[in-house]
Amino acid sequence: MNGPVFAALDVGGTKIAAALVDEDGTVLRRDRVPTPREGADAVLRAAARLLNDLSGTTDHDRRDAADRGRDGVTPYGRDGAADRGRDDAAVRRPGGAAGRGLGRTAVRGLGVGAPGVVDPATGRVVSATDVLPGWAGADVRGTLAALTGLPVTVVNDVRAMAYGEARAGAGAGHHRVLHVSVGTGVGGALTVGGRLEHGAHGTAGELAHLLVPEEGPIPCGCGRRDHLEAVASGPAIAVTGDTPRAGALLGRALAGLLAVLDPDAVVIGGGVAQIGAPFLDAVTTAFRHEALPPLRATPILPARLGTDAPLVGAALLAHNALLAHDALLAHDALLAHDAPPTPAAETATSPGSLR
Ligand SMILES: [Zn+2]
Repeated sequence: MNGPVFAALDVGGTKIAAALVDEDGTVLRRDRVPTPREGADAVLRAAARLLNDLSGTTDHDRRDAADRGRDGVTPYGRDGAADRGRDDAAVRRPGGAAGRGLGRTAVRGLGVGAPGVVDPATGRVVSATDVLPGWAGADVRGTLAALTGLPVTVVNDVRAMAYGEARAGAGAGHHRVLHVSVGTGVGGALTVGGRLEHGAHGTAGELAHLLVPEEGPIPCGCGRRDHLEAVASGPAIAVTGDTPRAGALLGRALAGLLAVLDPDAVVIGGGVAQIGAPFLDAVTTAFRHEALPPLRATPILPARLGTDAPLVGAALLAHNALLAHDALLAHDALLAHDAPPTPAAETATSPGSLR
């Protein structure tokens, strides 16, 4: 394998998924385990074990190592292209990873998509519903960094999913991508020029609380009933049974929102989007009817990565963090060379020395 590899976790209420992902967003391996119900610490320990197992050698790797007459070959030290396209069963290696650790020399970082409101600066869960017992307040970054030895980047799971689709899924190639996730709730996120927009309070792109012209059958997550989530989320549709109506209300809301954000493309994912045409066609028809003329041709695209999306997004965010870290180090090195100025500083400022 030529480029760096990143580990990724998608922590959910019923399962924890893990993957190894390359810098282009290609999933090299993936696996999952049920989520423990005994609190945040048990969840994070199970996640770290899953990563450790995932990074163990495959039977193929072990044969390869035996053929060459030496031991200790990690899956990262060799060309991983052969592993692409293997299914989960093929890379599951019970007990095969014992004592091998995470191959830290080659896995460059860990990205985590976590439920709840996450402070990206600290990697802590600020608040969470009871989807995971004891999850609110969890120090996801600190705990996983200690357990894996990797630099850890933590982001809300919907934002991880949005970023994965924007960079390597349905939104790839578009500069400004609005991701809309419709599942048990309604979520959204905005990616501009390959960067996830957090906003001043971490809610940029969040569209659950857009006002809609009717009361929903259930309350929005915030308690109001005249918000998009109260009419268009999976639980709302389960009550009304009216999928096209939910789609139409989302489409109308998008028409207004797109006049504000003017993205190059909208990607719609989440469990409700998987209903397909009855929902997505209703969204698109209502949007085109309501939107300002210049916005009507904006592509509205179904998500493409499925359950890989949060893993891909988390891994690519970990890559961004690494690039930012390296840039900071290079900048510090430049400053160190700038004072006092010496002939050596000339070499330090040449583009070739900036990695
Ligand atoms: Zn609301």
